Amino acid sequence: MKETIVYTKNLDFYYGEDRALKNVSLSFFNREVTALIGPSGCGKSTFLRCLNRMNDLIADTRVEGEVHIHGVNIYAERVDPVEIRRKVGMVFQKPNPFPKSVYENIVWGARINGIAHKNYDELVERSLRETGLWDEVKDKLKKSALSLSGGQQQRLCIARAIAISPEVILMDEPTSALDPISTTRIENLLENLKKDYTIIIVTHNMQQAGRIADNTTFFLQGEVVEFGATSKIFYNPSNQRTEDYISGKFG
Ligand code: ADP
Ligand code: MG
Repeated sequence: MKETIVYTKNLDFYYGEDRALKNVSLSFFNREVTALIGPSGCGKSTFLRCLNRMNDLIADTRVEGEVHIHGVNIYAERVDPVEIRRKVGMVFQKPNPFPKSVYENIVWGARINGIAHKNYDELVERSLRETGLWDEVKDKLKKSALSLSGGQQQRLCIARAIAISPEVILMDEPTSALDPISTTRIENLLENLKKDYTIIIVTHNMQQAGRIADNTTFFLQGEVVEFGATSKIFYNPSNQRTEDYISGKFG
């Protein structure tokens, strides 16, 4: 039996009058990777940002419906969005390390989240090892993170995200700004990370979804058209629109 870590129920999202998400009800399972696919503008990023209350930061927006993470309705009144963002890590399309040292990038999040770590050196090494970066940067820990390659910066951002032990990791097209080799490294890394984390990843690369995702969700114009095992969505979709999209008829 799969363990549901995150689920949404009748989730609607509005930018002003514009409804960007329509009645989205989805479940995400422990230690699995779920890919969100669909044409540009269909609401993938908006949906992802609903899962850690990042949309709260955008003026004139409104959420209706429910998002539950580990049994907590994150839009309930007494919930602190900062605490939610600690539990739900996020990695963006463009690597965004802080303009600080490699070392500081990792410990900053831990410090700011009040994680009183006895040994920051150990936390830095463990996080960098988990993302396959340690051997590449162990002699550059005091160097600026901005001196790393784009692919290394992105793995550093993933290391920074996992250093605060999130329950869920959200990724919004994390490889679309990277070269093929860096992309492969991150795809391989996801295979390892999912042993410990629940991962939800937006990708517009269908081959990537096919390679890395246990489950795939197809969005169209703010609605979920189909959700299921990736092999089912790709090879035996139930919905004609899914089939049309997968086979490249639009999008
Ligand atoms: P995707 O990630 O699938 O490309 P988005 O979630 O970015 O889609 O966008 C969904 C819809 O919401 C689009 O119509 C987009 O124009 C609109 N939208 C996204 N961000 C904003 C914003 N900050 N303000 C107003 N509308 C937005
Ligand atoms: Mg997007």
